[in-house]
Amino acid sequence: MNTFPSGTDSFDHQPHSGTFWIAILDAYLAGKNFLPPYMGLDPKTFAQICTHFNITVPEHFQHNTEKRQVISDLAGLRLSEQQDLINLLNHHLHNNERFSENMSSVLSAACMGTQHLWKDLGMPERPLLTQLFDCFYPGLSTMNKRNMRWKRFLYRQLCASGGDYVCRAPSCETCTSFNECFTLE
Ligand code: SF4
Repeated sequence: MNTFPSGTDSFDHQPHSGTFWIAILDAYLAGKNFLPPYMGLDPKTFAQICTHFNITVPEHFQHNTEKRQVISDLAGLRLSEQQDLINLLNHHLHNNERFSENMSSVLSAACMGTQHLWKDLGMPERPLLTQLFDCFYPGLSTMNKRNMRWKRFLYRQLCASGGDYVCRAPSCETCTSFNECFTLE
């Protein structure tokens, strides 16, 4: 694991999309993220992504652990919310590489977690998640110029388009949840 594809040897440079897949897959295989079995993907696609990014899944790796099954069960109660997130992300997807749409599925699954999105993805630091958005969803990165927490930002977009998820005030400046959305970890 941790075999970065050519040109993706450091988080300090503009990363290739493989950098993000590898970080998330490594965390998943180490049991360090909050994702359902197969990261919310179908098993065949999960295997194809691993092969594509030279990730070796240990022979006896258990996808359906009790923890991941609980995560899956909880996510199953919020399917329409996940689909709203996938639709939002795919609407802004600007990356024609293979498996890009699958990243939207993984992000939406991680949004069902309770921690910061980068933590539930198992990323080592928040800036890597920001770089992921730069790479896959540059339009959303541009829109988030105030550097709102990413999960809050996504739900803010859903609220703005008529959803009823998080925002209790017409503007962030007048909202009592301001610190929850903007104070970075
Ligand atoms: S500060 Fe309030 S209005 Fe702004 S995104 Fe957060 S919850 Fe929504």
